[in-house]
Amino acid sequence: MSGHISKFCKAAIKHRKHYSTDSFLLSKPLIEFREKAREVVAKKIAPLADKADKEGKFSEGHFEILGKEGLLDVKVPKKYGGLGLGNIGSTLLTEEIAYGCGATATSVSGHTSLYTGTLVTFGSEKQILKYIKPHLSGKYVGSFSLSEPENGSDAGGLKTTAKLEGDNWILNGSKMWITNGNLPGGMILIATTDRSKQHKGINSFIVPKPLENATVHRLEDKLGMRASPTCQITFENARIPAENIIGKPGDGFKIAMTSLNSARLGAASIGLGTSRHSIDLALKYLRRNKIHPITTADCTTSSLKLAEMECRAQAARLMIYTAAKLLDENHPEATKYCAMAKVMGSETGTFCAHQAMQILGNEGYLAENKVERLYRDNRVTEIYDGTSEIQRLVIAKSFDEPSKLT
Ligand SMILES: Cc1cc2nc3c(=O)[nH]c(=O)nc-3n(C[C@H](O)[C@H](O)[C@H](O)COP(=O)(O)OP(=O)(O)OC[C@H]3O[C@@H](n4cnc5c(N)ncnc54)[C@H](O)[C@@H]3O)c2cc1C
Repeated sequence: MSGHISKFCKAAIKHRKHYSTDSFLLSKPLIEFREKAREVVAKKIAPLADKADKEGKFSEGHFEILGKEGLLDVKVPKKYGGLGLGNIGSTLLTEEIAYGCGATATSVSGHTSLYTGTLVTFGSEKQILKYIKPHLSGKYVGSFSLSEPENGSDAGGLKTTAKLEGDNWILNGSKMWITNGNLPGGMILIATTDRSKQHKGINSFIVPKPLENATVHRLEDKLGMRASPTCQITFENARIPAENIIGKPGDGFKIAMTSLNSARLGAASIGLGTSRHSIDLALKYLRRNKIHPITTADCTTSSLKLAEMECRAQAARLMIYTAAKLLDENHPEATKYCAMAKVMGSETGTFCAHQAMQILGNEGYLAENKVERLYRDNRVTEIYDGTSEIQRLVIAKSFDEPSKLT
């Protein structure tokens, strides 16, 4: 019986590398980029992930490693010295990092999707040159602040204000749940310049940190992603230069929503990294257990679980690549596809980590086992960057409109 399991698992592990649909979906440069990211993560990020999680401490070192290896440049166009691999490159990077360390993937997604991504899409040439370059080495970490103590899903109801006085914007208000918000580096701030105009009064700004009169109040203690800092930050008459507004006045809400599309792909890709790692850990466990007596029934239920995990993970992968491609093309249905990818990626990640824990039994429940961390870390991907419920509302709303896909 044990020989039967061993044969099944051995074959599965051997061929897993070739399971994916990559060869016809991804270009050679993208595949090479992913190989490089995979190697860097395996050698330099994954070995430190458990310690970072236990200590609940952000590893500056991880960002510096990624910067040194040129991986943080992924979305920056070639003309600004980046790799110019767009959202598709960014999803590959995030999946690879999440395989090794979910918390680092969360912080990197905040940095690449929400900070550098927003600037390269909407910033002026001057803003890109000034505020992106220092962030590519990993010394400075980007963030994005939309959520507030009294509004999460209802982003349009934000209360933080920006008032133009001479050559400066004066910022007042409080932001909450901000990934990387306590770290030195640029922050994209979404604030209102005129609440009576509702969405049209919302603007986005570049806030260099640390900044006088911008105070970090607390770091949240969380279930997972413990090494990715999440903080509350308050502005009390903090000043930034007038030129730090991004895009045209009134564009802020559109900018925030477009950037969130990219962040949703980040969350989805974290789910994909979680799924892949969960499947590998379950296979490894079964393979190792060939030495223990194990019944046919165990083998069958585990095999069926693994089959379901693999189906869902590959379906999520296709959805994520499709959404990333549409977003890179600025396609009118990109928002809907990013929402679908987020639901599929994040929920598949949680499903796979849950199933892997079930396959490992007691062992999977132990803090010393990686499945336990994957399970805790992935849960928030169904919440941040817009909850699963909000994604389903976005998808449902699209039924009111004629399809724009040919
Ligand atoms: C670890 C972490 C990191 C984060 N990082 C950032 C960051 O970097 N920047 C940032 O700006 N924010 C960040 N956030 C905030 C996060 O993106 C929002 O909080 C999230 O979108 C959900 O908001 P909420 O929990 O306040 O949900 P709420 O709006 O309070 O919703 C609570 C529940 O009600 C449901 N709900 C709400 N409205 C509706 C509706 N209309 N229809 C149906 N159901 C609804 C929701 O789905 C959810 O189940 C982070 C959050 C976490 C936990």
